[in-house]
Amino acid sequence: MTNLKFNVVDLVELQLVENVISARSAEIERIKNNEELVSAEKEFTEVKGKFNRINGKYNDLESERKRLEDTVEIQNEKIKNEENKLFSGTITSAKELENYQSEVKILRQKNSEMEDQILEIMINMEEMSKRVELSKVEKDKAETNINRIKNEMNEKIEVLKNIIEGLEKRRDDVILKIPDDYLKKYKELRGKKGGIAVAVLKDNFCNVCNMQIPVVAAEKMEDIDEIYSCPICGRMAVIYRDEIDSIKKELES
Ligand SMILES: [Zn+2]
Repeated sequence: MTNLKFNVVDLVELQLVENVISARSAEIERIKNNEELVSAEKEFTEVKGKFNRINGKYNDLESERKRLEDTVEIQNEKIKNEENKLFSGTITSAKELENYQSEVKILRQKNSEMEDQILEIMINMEEMSKRVELSKVEKDKAETNINRIKNEMNEKIEVLKNIIEGLEKRRDDVILKIPDDYLKKYKELRGKKGGIAVAVLKDNFCNVCNMQIPVVAAEKMEDIDEIYSCPICGRMAVIYRDEIDSIKKELES
């Protein structure tokens, strides 16, 4: 590492790259805290609940209809058997005959009532089916909306992750060019001073603390290849040169 010539701008570049990484990471967090998604999910829960209730009622009616139809069918089978017996001529007792006839009558009566019930259920179901359908459309729409928001979110996050990946590669390359003791100082200051360890001095102003460097101190800061310390905020300070703006512009694009 020490065989590489150390350019003080590398230190500034490291800071600028890490600033952009932080900003992009914060952007990802903001995208994840999507209020639109929260309200879309809330709406979906509501319309899904509504659909489940209506659809549940509809299915209950359908089960009841089926149960009644099965019962009618079984009873019809019974009626047929009773009638076969009645017409077979094997029944000789008048009392037995009367019993069979009365049983058939009861069964027919029951079936007639059940068929009325079935009809009523079918009318109800017919009326409900439109509501079930509308409710399903509403539910599907809410679900589609969630998926759209999630897809858009993921696309944006994916783009940012790729950018960050590129920046991390660049950061690793820059780090290799910086001598260990400066890197150590950089990390230390970064931890202590809100993530910003390197300042740029332009027209005797520190671009981080925004303070003017006192004249006596400023007069000693004239070597652009030197790393100074801002007398006010204590960060490592490098004198401005155009190259720094070029790196900034490049990182912003
Ligand atoms: Zn400063």
